Amino acid sequence: MAVLYSSTRNSSEKLTASQAILKGLADDGGLFVPDHIPALDVSIEELAKMSYQETAYEVMKLMFSDFTEEELKKCINSAYDSKFDTEEIAPLVQADGAYYLELFHGPTIAFKDMALSILPHLLITSARKNNVKNDIVILTATSGDTGKAALAGFADVEGTKIVVFYPKNGVSPIQEKQMVTQKGANTRVVGIKGNFDQAQTGVKQMFNDKAFAAELDKAGFQFSSANSINIGRLVPQMVYYVYAYAKLYANGVIAKDEKINVVVPTGNFGNILAAFYAKNMGLPIAKLICASNENKVLFDFFTTGTYDKNREFILTNSPSMDILISSNLERLIYRIAGNDADKNAALMKSLSQDGKYEITDEMREQLADFYGNYTTEEETGAVIKNLYEKTGYVIDTHTAVAAGVYGKYKEETGDGETKTVIASTASPFKFTRSVMDAIDTKYDAMGDFELVDELSKIGNVAVPQAIEEIRTAPVLHDIVCEVEEMPNVVRDFLGV
Ligand SMILES: *Cc1c(COP(=O)(O)O)cnc(C)c1O
Repeated sequence: MAVLYSSTRNSSEKLTASQAILKGLADDGGLFVPDHIPALDVSIEELAKMSYQETAYEVMKLMFSDFTEEELKKCINSAYDSKFDTEEIAPLVQADGAYYLELFHGPTIAFKDMALSILPHLLITSARKNNVKNDIVILTATSGDTGKAALAGFADVEGTKIVVFYPKNGVSPIQEKQMVTQKGANTRVVGIKGNFDQAQTGVKQMFNDKAFAAELDKAGFQFSSANSINIGRLVPQMVYYVYAYAKLYANGVIAKDEKINVVVPTGNFGNILAAFYAKNMGLPIAKLICASNENKVLFDFFTTGTYDKNREFILTNSPSMDILISSNLERLIYRIAGNDADKNAALMKSLSQDGKYEITDEMREQLADFYGNYTTEEETGAVIKNLYEKTGYVIDTHTAVAAGVYGKYKEETGDGETKTVIASTASPFKFTRSVMDAIDTKYDAMGDFELVDELSKIGNVAVPQAIEEIRTAPVLHDIVCEVEEMPNVVRDFLGV
């Protein structure tokens, strides 16, 4: 049966997967959710023999049921290729009794590559399936990381162009270097004389400008976004949980149907929701362990049933998890509200008006699969140091939050038996300074690239290509503009 998608805030309109991917967000502000999640229809014995790409097909064919086999396989094979530095794509590493699922072997050495490497292909295939003839122009405002991952994903994908705006003086030197060295004739990177909010507002204004849209349409272009709530980013993230489970089975770590725990360092709730969807597909997952840093809105939500973003925003060493509104949680709320769009819409209204909402006891009961906890900055550092000293394995700050919460989970529940996969969301080379400082403060005096070499030495791992490149790569983008000039920069790039 085909899977159709509707908004979490109004279920009357049903879209195919390709239509939902093209639209990204529903007009009512809701997120697209599948009307059902089909069961995996291959056995674990078969999955155990499959490559990452083959596993991806088995998962995506169920969720993206309006794509043909040929279309999906083409998207998958264009995404998960030599852009990744290992054929396994997402290797599992055992350390100190847990299994680290390394999701950072893509072009920007963080887990967003798992989804952003395939989204452009899904998007352009969706456009053609729905008779959209225009080229798709992606506009993104970035405070650093998403911009690079989107650029890497869209570079040289036929039928697409991408323009990334970043605050000229508001990103780290390494982040800037990563972006301005981006190759690909269809890419443009622009620094703006303003902050991130101004970049974001400028992009939103272009999206909402009807006259601009008409002007572009005439020239054969239309805007789209690579937004993190796109179903085309969520579904590809289900794949690696299935893949990891099958690998554990293939390696004799688990028996057939044996349940595993999954620990996910969480920000926007996308990655852990993908694990929940994979569980709904029939993957034997016991607990979904949601790990937060000091911005522990989700821990508080799981322990009290109240989601409350009215609090101080804390800057931590795991910045990709510094989030007070976890957008993808809305998909879970909709689900535990009994797929009731009105109920969900009311809660989301209260979130936007009062910054909080409370779920009912009945809804809370359905969260039994989840366990939430958090680590402090100090604990996160200690986790990195202890794991390194015990095993020689070096993990990044985000992964360390997950490892720390897994420790708390074991202590609190006594469940040390269930085999556990920890989603490792970034390479330690992406957060070298925080990681090395945690291991030994003597490293604080070293320069950035010196630290990279030192990490490579002590961790006994090669410096990733993504880091090597920025040492030497030539600057290819040097445009800086005023906020008001953003639309003209786009016109100039598109030649309209
Ligand atoms: C984005 C990100 C996260 C959080 O993932 P969500 O899907 O937003 O919960 C965790 N770690 C790293 C390194 C990230 O980039």
